[in-house]
Amino acid sequence: MTLFPKPKIVVSKCIGFDPCRYNGEIVRDKFVARLEPHVDFLCVCPEVEIGLGTPRDPIRVVSSGKDFKLIQPASGLDVSRKMREFTSEFLGDLKEVDGFILKSRSPSCGFTDVKLYAGPEKGPCIGKGAGFFGGAVLEKFGDRAVEDEGRLLNLNIREHFLTRVYAFARFRELRRSSSMRDLIGFHGANKLLLMAYNQTKMRELGRIVANGDGKRIPAVFDLYEKSFCEAFHKPPRHASPINVLMHALGYFKKELSAREKRHFLGMCEAYRRGKTPLSSAVSVLGSWVIRFESVYLQEQTFFHPFPADLMALDDSGRGRV
Ligand code: SF4
Repeated sequence: MTLFPKPKIVVSKCIGFDPCRYNGEIVRDKFVARLEPHVDFLCVCPEVEIGLGTPRDPIRVVSSGKDFKLIQPASGLDVSRKMREFTSEFLGDLKEVDGFILKSRSPSCGFTDVKLYAGPEKGPCIGKGAGFFGGAVLEKFGDRAVEDEGRLLNLNIREHFLTRVYAFARFRELRRSSSMRDLIGFHGANKLLLMAYNQTKMRELGRIVANGDGKRIPAVFDLYEKSFCEAFHKPPRHASPINVLMHALGYFKKELSAREKRHFLGMCEAYRRGKTPLSSAVSVLGSWVIRFESVYLQEQTFFHPFPADLMALDDSGRGRV
């Protein structure tokens, strides 16, 4: 049985933890509820933290020429400075974090798709961008997994998010040992996953681990961490994971029947056409890895990047991409 580390995830408090939205409501989210026993959540409500009560009059992001302000139109209050100060202190104090789940479209927490206005008075929105807190998260932690609950309804985005937070959590645990031997083992165990995500980075990471110029161990770990996070920045292109699946299938070509192979190739095709997430084909291949006891493949995180029940389909929709 695979043991998974607990990723550290900052979450907007109104997503299932507290009825702190401007109107006193809470957002129910099945995915966040399912994640809760598996991860360490750190909840935050920036608007409550800066002293706006609940319920409260809504705030909005307003253009002020070359900059933006955070204004409460009903009271005329400008909370931009308070929000920037809180955000800078909160994010500055974060030592270890693997990802963020932020409330979509919020002028504070949203990191994309937040309505921007020309002024506090009534009028159409003039564009979309990031909220004050969400934008600062992207600036400081853009190398971590940053998503909102709306986008996470999309299964491919959810899969990418889970793969990242668990990969980063595994590396955090590894860093505690600071052993080159463990780093070499870590790189080996992640080889197929890296191959599926970014082959250029996989080779770069291999060179870092080889440490040809004899760097000190902490410097090697720093370099590895930076490149490792970059390797997972974008979701994999469909062709690369399929190549990895075909490569792994080759281990069992003599054991499988023609019908089993056809079924599997059909799953790969469904993934290539964007009809199913990668994890569907991976889980079938993963069951053969166990059945045929391939020690090398069993060690590969590609086959168990995160707990399987986190990709349950019952709460999924298309989501926003
Ligand atoms: S979106 Fe952010 S600021 Fe708004 S209620 Fe939720 S946690 Fe608080």
